[in-house]
Amino acid sequence: MYCDAKSHILTNSITKVMISIFVLSLVSHRKRTMKNFPSDRKPAFASKAGIIFVIMLMAGCSLSSHPEIWAEGKPKHHTQNGFRNYPVIPDPPPVGAAFYFRRVLDSFFLPNVPDDHYLSEKDSISHFQQLNGQNSITWLGHATFLIRINGMTILTDPFLTEYASPLWIFGPRRYVQPGISLENLPPIDMIVVSHNHFDHLDAETIESLQEKEKIHVFVPLGLKPFFRDRGYTNIEELDWNERFSYGGIELTALPAVHFSGRGSNDKNKTLWCSWSISSQSGKVFFSGDTSYSSTIFKTIGKENGPYDLAIVSIGAYKTRKYGPASHLTPEEAVKVVMETKSNVAVAMHWGTIELSDEPPWEPPVRFKKAAQDNAISSDQTWVMKIGETRLLPSKKRK
Ligand SMILES: [Zn+2]
Repeated sequence: MYCDAKSHILTNSITKVMISIFVLSLVSHRKRTMKNFPSDRKPAFASKAGIIFVIMLMAGCSLSSHPEIWAEGKPKHHTQNGFRNYPVIPDPPPVGAAFYFRRVLDSFFLPNVPDDHYLSEKDSISHFQQLNGQNSITWLGHATFLIRINGMTILTDPFLTEYASPLWIFGPRRYVQPGISLENLPPIDMIVVSHNHFDHLDAETIESLQEKEKIHVFVPLGLKPFFRDRGYTNIEELDWNERFSYGGIELTALPAVHFSGRGSNDKNKTLWCSWSISSQSGKVFFSGDTSYSSTIFKTIGKENGPYDLAIVSIGAYKTRKYGPASHLTPEEAVKVVMETKSNVAVAMHWGTIELSDEPPWEPPVRFKKAAQDNAISSDQTWVMKIGETRLLPSKKRK
């Protein structure tokens, strides 16, 4: 969800309320278009109170203010109220009510999905099991992956339900079901989360996972209560450049250029980050959500690279005409791959939900082209199918 504390408050709020009313009228005529989504996860009709809450929430996005004054004595990305990007970047101007309106429409009119974009759940599970005992990566959709490394199974940025929002009527809505559904997930040893946005940290997914006491959770600063309140006990909160080792895997929270928040009053109260996941048998960079920085990724490459694999965000970039973006373009994603000194890159944050205005199938085409333009071979830039499992690239370091 996009929130900005800028001008045009009254206009934006009125427009958003009008959009809400329009959406409610659409809801009454709405047909479900996504097949085979587990029936027990189909959303119930929203209560009136919930609808009012969302209207207030959307209006509230324009009303809140977020001073970003450095908390003296702390690292430069800490503010008196939470966190900020560092190097400091200007707050983007509002994306505009029309942008929200298009996102709402997106949740009602889903794109046609090519058959070769995903595997059936049966095939996904079968391919996953064929590589049991080996280091592998499985794309479940958007930024959610299963990474098996050093005998551990890591779940990244968990979002396996239908809507990346507090209430189903407001999307963004998944247009491809997860490669492996919540019910059929293998036992999870570790969860790694990049930031507190609905499409990267889904409450229902977190609540539904089994054997929470056995799962070790790694989050950026401020997100421990989210997991503690949902029954998890092994939670490590890390600041940028802090490390923690567990099960032969070293996790390092690294900088990213983004923001956080789920509602009107929590903008940037929790930190956002990228992750380094390192073990004897392989090293992975997970970009999370980030915009490009001319310094941050070079530093990561220099101090933490090289990587066998970079998982990089390539979608949700076409908000740029409204101001600085919070995501990478495919061309910037390739720069991140090179600057982090990553041998192979896998594309994420595309092909699952519509978060911005680019055509949904454009990001991987541009990603492949940008890689080619930079003399990176096609087999070093992976565009996986949702549900697909591949062996992690073998270690290629000095
Ligand atoms: Zn985000």
